[in-house]
Amino acid sequence: MKPQEYVRVSLLPAGFLTLPEHFFCADQHDKSIKNLVPSMSFLLEHIPSRTRVVFDLGLRRDLSAYPDNIQPHLRTRQPIQTIPDVCDSLNHGGLESTDIDAVILSHMHYDHVGTPSRFTMAKFIVGYGSRHILENGMNYHSAAHFEKDLLPSDRTIELPVQNILPQFTHPVEITTHFTNCLSSFSPGGQQEWKALHPFDNVIDLFDDGSFYIVDSPGHLLGHLNVLVRVSSDRWIYLAGDACHHSRILNGETGMAEWEEDGRHVCIHTDKNLALGTLHRIQNLKENGFQGGSVQVVLAHDAEWYQNNLKSIFPGAVDD
Ligand SMILES: [Zn+2]
Repeated sequence: MKPQEYVRVSLLPAGFLTLPEHFFCADQHDKSIKNLVPSMSFLLEHIPSRTRVVFDLGLRRDLSAYPDNIQPHLRTRQPIQTIPDVCDSLNHGGLESTDIDAVILSHMHYDHVGTPSRFTMAKFIVGYGSRHILENGMNYHSAAHFEKDLLPSDRTIELPVQNILPQFTHPVEITTHFTNCLSSFSPGGQQEWKALHPFDNVIDLFDDGSFYIVDSPGHLLGHLNVLVRVSSDRWIYLAGDACHHSRILNGETGMAEWEEDGRHVCIHTDKNLALGTLHRIQNLKENGFQGGSVQVVLAHDAEWYQNNLKSIFPGAVDD
């Protein structure tokens, strides 16, 4: 019997920022409640191919290197800690940023993109519409500014249009995309989205059932998650910003919504789509995946971080 292919998952601390809880949790009406939360990155080592992938790059070590139009927003997220950043965390386990083969970015918000220029050998894998956002921005209330030249055009792979298109409340028209194909990174892997219960769109990155990129629409155009097999009966689901607090994930409260300039706003660009994505993740957490249990990790879950310090690289989840 062929041995089960699997992925080694390590936590890479990549900075902390302060988030007001009422932006996220529907049951929080006290606007003074703020939490210092991590913006977590992960090293995903695909054992059979010895391929090293980093999921999200967290906060930029040098905050002044964010563009001027992001600076006012940063002041609302203080205190912010950026040391160690994702590169420091790789160094801590004996790797350099140049040892990384690919970076998957869950989405284009400043607190997930770090400093891409440090990863000079990596391919960047991003969701459909990411280039459009970088070039055109979004008419959106929070962290509305993006960097046109964030990613290297010649090494960025924008995933293809979904197999089943998410139904956006406000249809989005995408006119620009990076031209690279997934085959330039993993020639033997799946190149197109496929439905795989409970998801409409996944890509089996190495075509061995160990590493899935999951389309997870709602938070921001092109939002991606990953689902990786860490052992014969355990999976880890990295949920990015699918939701921002374990109370939402556990169903104890809903996603916050409030009035701004006479319209309903939410931290997610499309709340209905975000709710659909959340329900699929909750289903996964409850019922498992392909006979194994699934641990769901939110990018900003401070409690998970504190409970999993042993998984900091060179440690790993499940060690
Ligand atoms: Zn975000």
